[in-house]
Amino acid sequence: MSEQTTVDFRALGLAEPLLKAIEESGYTTPTPIQAQAIPLALQRMDLMAGAQTGTGKTAAFSLPILHTLLPLASTSTSPAKHPIRALVLAPTRELAIQVYDNIKTYAKHTALRSLVVYGGVDIKTQTPHLKTGVEILVATPGRLLDHVEQKTLSLSQVQFLVLDEADRMLDMGFMPDLKRILALLPKQRQNLMFSATFSDEIKKLADAFLNNPTLIEVARSNATNDNVEQKAYLVNSDQKQRFLVQLLKQYANQQVIVFTKTKLSASKLARALERDQIPCSAIHGDKSQKERIEALDAFKAGSIHALVATDVAARGLDISDLPLVINYEISTAPEDYVHRIGRTGRAGAKGIAISLIDEDETKYFDEIEKLIKKQIPKEKGAIGSRPRPSKGGKADDAWFSQPYEPTSAAVAPKPVPAKQASAKRKVVAALLGGFGFRASPQPRNQAKRGSGKSRQKAENKEADVVETVSAES
Ligand code: AMP
Repeated sequence: MSEQTTVDFRALGLAEPLLKAIEESGYTTPTPIQAQAIPLALQRMDLMAGAQTGTGKTAAFSLPILHTLLPLASTSTSPAKHPIRALVLAPTRELAIQVYDNIKTYAKHTALRSLVVYGGVDIKTQTPHLKTGVEILVATPGRLLDHVEQKTLSLSQVQFLVLDEADRMLDMGFMPDLKRILALLPKQRQNLMFSATFSDEIKKLADAFLNNPTLIEVARSNATNDNVEQKAYLVNSDQKQRFLVQLLKQYANQQVIVFTKTKLSASKLARALERDQIPCSAIHGDKSQKERIEALDAFKAGSIHALVATDVAARGLDISDLPLVINYEISTAPEDYVHRIGRTGRAGAKGIAISLIDEDETKYFDEIEKLIKKQIPKEKGAIGSRPRPSKGGKADDAWFSQPYEPTSAAVAPKPVPAKQASAKRKVVAALLGGFGFRASPQPRNQAKRGSGKSRQKAENKEADVVETVSAES
């Protein structure tokens, strides 16, 4: 299907209260995925949509759902008037929160209620809100099942199911949970599935759960966003850290997410950067949701300049205008590359994605290039000739503030004047995920299902094990 970008929201036939909210959000034109998905979804068709975060996919599924539910909106305070009619499943709490925030914004001029539930917080705090009744529920699969077990919600009136970032849900071992949830839903419903990548597993999932779906794609499947300039440096593993420090100084004025493969290496890197006089604020899976949100808010507000993140932690982060992503460690799963660089170049903005490839990672990068069907320009990463200061290099050490000299002008980042680079305080946060990225976590249905609280603990424990195993492998 060809992309169309000329329609406006009004031409899509959306109801006035939604158009008003869209206008207030500052959206003037539907993004390609919105222009394609909204008319089809309004016709109550099942969709399998290839779109990564940053394309406007949340509005693409939320707006038609809100529009269709609008005649059922009620101002009554009776919970019975507000059954769950749309269920949106997301793999991570960050994504769930972000989707919920968007839905709340789009629904603000309607009487439709929405809520988000996710693990890692006391389930009891969510129950009273559920009991008041909500039409649209955004949930992570595990926590949704906790609520089902505690009989704090009913899914018997669900008319819409959205699987957001379906590929990541499968990666994280949610398939058994998805099957359990789907068995609880009415057969008559509309299904909208969004995935950044289309693997064979995703196609199987679509075959199993979607009803004669229409396939829509805003870009070639597994392709990367054209707005993102991609480049790579070949760097010896023992020099990577220094090279990263140099890059961070070059890009001192730009916010950056630095990706590592595991929680362990993210923590190590954050500590190492701290030793290099780059202030770090590490957040890991053991810290509370509140602390993670605070770090993200600080990043969004610009007081933190760099986040060291694992793949899972970074999922669903909606950070507009993020100009730079650095792949400090190349993932063994090529799809992760697509997700990682999808953090930048969002909603039409320009972005840069830099990968640092060491001698052991070239094979993984070859796989990435095969997947995205694109050769990324590479050059040898050159670092300053002065050896790294032995103990706690000073921020005003000339080596640290000398401009980086790239080997090719074509890829040279704009040098930051030495004064500016050293004057600007750089804070690095490590935002770490609750689950390992590819180490085949134990399927959740094989684990004995305990109470919500004990399952949550088990999930957190599992996450640590998986990430540690990944780090050692
Ligand atoms: P998403 O892919 O849903 O995570 O959206 C990425 C970002 O694009 C979010 O910050 C949205 O608020 C923004 N966005 C979504 N639709 C539009 C639009 N039509 N025009 C401008 N920005 C949009």
